[in-house]
Amino acid sequence: MKRKSGQDREITKNWKPATLAVRGGSARTEYGETSEALFLSSGYCYDRAEDAAARFAGEQQGMTYSRLQNPTVEMLEQRIALMEGAEACRATATGMAAMTAALLCQLSAGDHVVAAKAAFGSCRWLTDTLLPRFGIETTTIDAHDTAAWEAAVKPNTKVFFFETPANPTMDLVDLKAVCAIAKAHGITSVVDNAFATSALQRPMDYGADVVAYSATKMMDGQGRVLAGAICGTEDWINNVLLPFHRNTGPTLSAFNAWVVLKGLETLDLRITRQSENALKVATFLESRVAKVLYPDLPSHPQHALAQAQMVKAGPIMSLYVGGGRVEAHGLLNGLQLVDISNNIGDSRSLMTHPATTTHFGMAEEARLEVGITEDMLRLNVGLEDADDVIADLDQALRAIGR
Ligand SMILES: *Cc1c(COP(=O)(O)O)cnc(C)c1O
Repeated sequence: MKRKSGQDREITKNWKPATLAVRGGSARTEYGETSEALFLSSGYCYDRAEDAAARFAGEQQGMTYSRLQNPTVEMLEQRIALMEGAEACRATATGMAAMTAALLCQLSAGDHVVAAKAAFGSCRWLTDTLLPRFGIETTTIDAHDTAAWEAAVKPNTKVFFFETPANPTMDLVDLKAVCAIAKAHGITSVVDNAFATSALQRPMDYGADVVAYSATKMMDGQGRVLAGAICGTEDWINNVLLPFHRNTGPTLSAFNAWVVLKGLETLDLRITRQSENALKVATFLESRVAKVLYPDLPSHPQHALAQAQMVKAGPIMSLYVGGGRVEAHGLLNGLQLVDISNNIGDSRSLMTHPATTTHFGMAEEARLEVGITEDMLRLNVGLEDADDVIADLDQALRAIGR
């Protein structure tokens, strides 16, 4: 495997995001293939026993076993790190593997975590159920309230954990302000950037220490594979994350890494068009339903912050149809083009009812506290013509009398 002449970190560092998305991290075999090679190999061979010993001792460069390294996965990790502006990245099998590893690799019994109340259902399960089971204390707060972060800090607080925009409430966290609070207290900030990706928002530019991803969403972007990633400094990845990652094995498969590499090549095109489509759809919906939460709408409570820290607002929004579950399910059942599906970041428009799907596992009281009511729906706007999506929503809304 070799990089194109001069294609080392020093040169790629100066490439712009669109170039990095297509070429960042690429390396070629002796065959000179244009598209990245897919290495489906669990292990690696050594010429001599001494070479194996030297590789295990870290004295010789090279791969030893695909739980630890794989050439295709490594290309993806380098590409994501370059796009994120991070020193290093490790890929994982799913987004939840990334979140779990990013937290557990650095936490011990007796530590304290402050996390956002409004979060993906499984992320809330980590903070509400898993971490406390291992003696890690957690406090969940209204993450859009910057002062609440400062107020929740204790002497043993080790990590701030949040997503922005949040799933599915579309709450934003002021990245610059909250990461500065973390820094001032020696706390590690872990940002789940699945909704925006580096194409719309780079949390490290605002002081985030660790950025974690569900690459299943916008990075693959075509509803094919599950994947995740964790970005940080070289020191943090090598000395804090890697001992956990190598020994517990949330490793990404080479095939899925290859699919995500292909997805990244079109990430910027897709997320830009999907954001434009989403704004048209959100503007239409706002004229027809009780409330729409989309950061690019002037009606969003944190519209100014969205404009300050995001390039565009992404494909996802939430809406309140008014009434309850009957109306929400009625709207879903009336859709003819948009699919009923709980995935997001896909090139297809998809809609789900969070209270009975993605956030079903959350206690009802906790759901209501963050605004996940029975009449709330979450919509991912895809790459179809926005007018077709609007026409479909229009007829489904009419069917429930809206
Ligand atoms: C989907 C999602 C996850 C989990 O990712 P998987 O790839 O499904 O494991 C985590 N955080 C956010 C914000 C998500 O949307």
